[in-house]
Parts: sequence; structure tokens; C-alpha cells
Amino acid sequence: MAERNGHNKPVTVETPREFLQAKAHWNKKDFDSAIYAQGYEVFKEMALHCACRNSANGAPLSDCKNCGGTGWIFIEKTSTRAVIQAINRQSKFVQKWTEMDSGTISVSLRNDDKVAFMDRITIMDQVSTFSQTVYLKRKTGSLWFARLFYTPKSIKKVYLFNGSNEPLVKIAPDKCYFQDNYFYLNMELSIESPSVSLRYEHHPQYHVIDITREQIANRGGLENNCDPNSPVDDQLAQFPVHAIARKADRTLDPADINGDSVYDNT
Ligand SMILES: [Zn+2]
Repeated sequence: MAERNGHNKPVTVETPREFLQAKAHWNKKDFDSAIYAQGYEVFKEMALHCACRNSANGAPLSDCKNCGGTGWIFIEKTSTRAVIQAINRQSKFVQKWTEMDSGTISVSLRNDDKVAFMDRITIMDQVSTFSQTVYLKRKTGSLWFARLFYTPKSIKKVYLFNGSNEPLVKIAPDKCYFQDNYFYLNMELSIESPSVSLRYEHHPQYHVIDITREQIANRGGLENNCDPNSPVDDQLAQFPVHAIARKADRTLDPADINGDSVYDNT
């Protein structure tokens, strides 16, 4: 009896589609969630110009213990997440890898994590290896120390310089240790100004050198904000910021790590 109810007859009139302009909806929460889901755990520190800078030319004092002679201090370490990618230079600027690409990454952060030039980003989920020469200073008796560029996770190799005509002296791991970014060597040394080759593991650390997308806002189309009477600012969705960052030891003004010490202003 289905035919008598008419359900199988062809449809002659359909419900008209909605006569509204099609509109893309951008949801800030979706972008923030993507960064949280895909991002690395990072520490972000705010960079500040050190007040030791000369008022005439902006040059920092080379013996300033606040900034280590770099002109920058880093404050307010915050824990957040960031999407880190290698830069795809082929799509825009140059065709080949150049020296300028060395140690350079692209970073996307939530808009709440605003960044500025020279801000420092440390990736806590990753480990890098770094090699540096340190110039030891005597702390007490046979205990020597030196400041490291990065804070090590573990020290892999230690070799003492013993004159240009002598082979390097391999140092046993039980003779040295580290604390924060200080290296200590507990050993009687008769060398006047001892220096040591070090290779150690650390969390990779970068400085922001360019901000390619600082502000992108989308008006309207936000979830939970359909009130036409709400202030305009409330309807602007702030999208993630995007920056280019470079390994701290390859940034233009690497810290002077051979000074005696640096005050901790964090
Ligand atoms: Zn300074």
C-alpha cells in the first residue's frame, strides 16, 4: 500500500537552499588546539635591551654582568608549546641552501605567546650536541670553572689543551661536572691559562630573528561570540604568530661566555 501514501512518487519541489552568502569560519580555538597537539614543549623567555647600553650608539658595556656584554637580558621564562619546522626556502626566496639557513627554523606560537626580536626559545623535547672551547678560571685550590654557552644535559667529551706541540689530554668523566651552565674541573693543573675542548648535549635554544606574521585577525565568525552588540574587539580572533629563529650560538651577537659571571635577572 506504499504507492497510495505517495512516498515513492518523484519529488517535484525541493526545499530552497538558504539565500545567505557562504562564509568561511575561522576559529581561533582550532588553531590554538593544533599548536598544542602538534607542538613541542618549549620555554619562552622575553628579551630586553640591557640598560648598560651607551646612549650615543647603543653599544653595550663589554664588562656588564647583567647581559654578559651582549646588550640583551632574558626574563620571565614561560612554559608553552610551539610548532617548529625547518624553513622551506625553495618556495620563496632562493633555490638552494645557503649559509644563512644554517641553524634557522620557523616557529608558530599561539597568539597569547607573543614574541619579539631576540626572544629566546628552548625546545625541551629535543636534544642537540654542541662543541665549544672553554677557558678555565680557578675557583678554589684545584677546582676550576668556566661558563658554557648552553646548559648541558650531559657532557660527552673533555680534552685539555697542553701546548701546541703536545697531544690533547683526555679528561676522565669523574674529574668534571656541571651545574646549570657552569662547567667544573677538579684537577691539579700546572698550565697557566688552561683551556678545554668540550662536547656536550643540551636542549636546543634559538633566538627570534624575524617575525613573519605578527598579527592576523579575523572579524566575526567566532564560536561563542554571536552577539551583534558585543564590542568589535571581542569579535577579532587573534591567530598564531609566526617567526624565524636561529640557533643561539649562530645569532649575530652570541653571549660573551668568557666573562667571570653574569647576574641572573630572570
Ligand atoms: Zn648589560
